[in-house]
Amino acid sequence: MDFIKESVITPRKYECDVCVCGGGVAGIAAAIAAKRAGAEEVILLERSFMLGGLATAGLVTIYLALCDGYGHQICYGLAEELFKLSIEYGAEARYPTAWLDGGTVEERAKRRFEVQFNAQLFALSAERLLRQEGIKVMYGASAVATHVEDRRITDVIIEGKGGREAIRVKGSVVDTTGDADVCKLAGAKTANFAAGNKLASWYYGVAEGKLELYMVGVHDVNDDKNATDLKDERRFTGLDTDEISEMVQIGHSAMMNNLLTRRGVTSDLVPVTISTIPELRMTRRLAGAYTQDIDEVDVEYPDSVGIFPNWKKIGPVYELPFSALYGKEIKNLAVAGRCISVTDEMWDVTRVIPVCAVSGEAAGAAAAMCSDFANIDIKKLQSHLINCGVKLHNYLKEQ
Ligand SMILES: Cc1cc2nc3c(=O)[nH]c(=O)nc-3n(C[C@H](O)[C@H](O)[C@H](O)COP(=O)(O)OP(=O)(O)OC[C@H]3O[C@@H](n4cnc5c(N)ncnc54)[C@H](O)[C@@H]3O)c2cc1C
Repeated sequence: MDFIKESVITPRKYECDVCVCGGGVAGIAAAIAAKRAGAEEVILLERSFMLGGLATAGLVTIYLALCDGYGHQICYGLAEELFKLSIEYGAEARYPTAWLDGGTVEERAKRRFEVQFNAQLFALSAERLLRQEGIKVMYGASAVATHVEDRRITDVIIEGKGGREAIRVKGSVVDTTGDADVCKLAGAKTANFAAGNKLASWYYGVAEGKLELYMVGVHDVNDDKNATDLKDERRFTGLDTDEISEMVQIGHSAMMNNLLTRRGVTSDLVPVTISTIPELRMTRRLAGAYTQDIDEVDVEYPDSVGIFPNWKKIGPVYELPFSALYGKEIKNLAVAGRCISVTDEMWDVTRVIPVCAVSGEAAGAAAAMCSDFANIDIKKLQSHLINCGVKLHNYLKEQ
């Protein structure tokens, strides 16, 4: 490969206590948690111009279960607050009546505590909430480099319309890019998802006056009438510009075919939104101080910072160990969302929206409290999270 050498002098234009990189659900939760835990200046960087990441721009509008499937709520705190925020102006589908309008455990066991929300309303409501909380949201700002001294990130370098600029970080950084971009840039150990991603290219359309989500992609099992299985063997790492561009275009072409096929049945179908970010589930993650595995159901960790269910199964409850949110290399860097430190099998469980909110809340609160995560006062963090309504251990075991 050919190389060019660049030498750049970057203006240090901004400063903050906590810099959250990536404005998906994990980043939204992390920024709010950092602010509420006492960080004065919190910056949330988002490379696009909409908050929510996959959940909004990616049209993944199904906020999966906050419950265990037996009628017990598992995720509380910001996971529940953001769930309610997503449907503040109405749910699109799957409204969980027994959970939100009163219901018995038996009624709640019949349908999981999940909902389909409107992407645009969620993004706008999230932005309004962040502004109310006093968080500085920077759009069109990609984290492209870090400056590291003594194993600490001193600056996050961004590129946006203003060019290349540095943000001095007085405290900590939370990587919520989904792809562990900041970990990679700072030299933290990372790992890639071995199997690669299946194609997904979702869109919304209106037919006969009704708004519908059409899920075009490779599905293992999906009997939803709006899901189309592409039966495509190709898999994508999501870590190469050329490959992502190819994947997106294959997806767009499949989406167009799907639309035209559906028009054969419903002639007035028009697309109203297509996914504007690549629909990648698992790409790169932190290889952290601890890596959680799928068989660790009900394992109690002394550094638990939340609990979450398995959206794929009824019953299992996991604790989230804080040591899966930071690495050994960079002292003031934490991760949250779909790039936390878990095995490939566990990744599919922790990447979903409610769990991203749980890890986001924990990482954000921790970032407000310390800048050396391996030496955090874990009891202080845990008691703060409990005060925010988060459950640290599976309370059902005691019942
Ligand atoms: C096809 C598909 C179907 C899914 N189905 C469901 C489902 O039904 N229910 C469910 O709960 N979950 C589902 N998921 C998973 C879930 O949507 C995501 O894993 C979750 O929303 C991830 O949140 P996040 O905040 O960790 O990351 P993301 O949503 O990926 O957010 C990362 C954000 O960071 C920004 N960013 C990235 N790099 C940078 C950078 N360098 N600088 C600045 N900003 C950056 C991105 O623009 C993005 O906004 C699905 C995912 C896919 C792909």
